[in-house]
Amino acid sequence: MASELKRADRLAALGELSARMAHEIRNPLAAISGSVQLVALRPWVDSKDERLFSIILRETDRLDGLLRDFLSYAKPNQPDKVALNLHRVIADLCALLATDPRLDGVEVDNLIPADLVVQFDKDQCTQVFWNLLVNAAEAIAGEGRIRIDGALVQESGGGREARIIIRDSGSGMSQDDVKRVFEPFFTTKKGGTGLGLATVYRIVETNGGRMAINSSEGKGTTVTLHLPA
Ligand code: ADP
Ligand code: MG
Repeated sequence: MASELKRADRLAALGELSARMAHEIRNPLAAISGSVQLVALRPWVDSKDERLFSIILRETDRLDGLLRDFLSYAKPNQPDKVALNLHRVIADLCALLATDPRLDGVEVDNLIPADLVVQFDKDQCTQVFWNLLVNAAEAIAGEGRIRIDGALVQESGGGREARIIIRDSGSGMSQDDVKRVFEPFFTTKKGGTGLGLATVYRIVETNGGRMAINSSEGKGTTVTLHLPA
């Protein structure tokens, strides 16, 4: 027990340190990107230079995104739990995602009952479902469906909790991949960070919920969340 605690302390310290590091790298990165954008406006810049500048900008953007995702994984904000109407949170998110090309051809059925309320941090709730919907859409990559069901269920302790099930008609994944999806940096995507589900898992846990993923290669994936009601 004592050594377990020490290990937890060490991991927390390491998380703190790497979050600090990520934060420190973001500032000079912003300065690099800002300076390059200014230099790119100079009259003597020719098309070859422009190409190089755009590579620098694309890559600084990518690095910044990676650091931002890493920060939100390594150092999630303390949740500010409030009563949330989940149907509405997801409807708002779908409206936001309507212009995202990754969701072209994807039909989202929000079947969460209009009166289902969960106790969850609002921004983190959006972050959770944003990640899950984008993953589902990326697995569909074309025409397909995402169905979101929700219900109040009895929890083992006797109280009630919300059970949310997100099913997609995407590519699914192998059982080996299913075992690894919550590992930070596990990705099968070109340009993926592999931090989405690791962060989602952490957020769900710190808000007092739990989650699991089932998948069948070629058929699709099911994500089940139990959230405090
Ligand atoms: P990323 O999206 O950057 O790859 P994630 O942590 O969000 O990172 O997901 C990790 C991996 O889990 C993905 O690369 C993919 O292989 C797999 N995955 C996640 N969600 C799904 C899904 N709905 N269907 C199929 N595979 C998925
Ligand atoms: Mg993802």
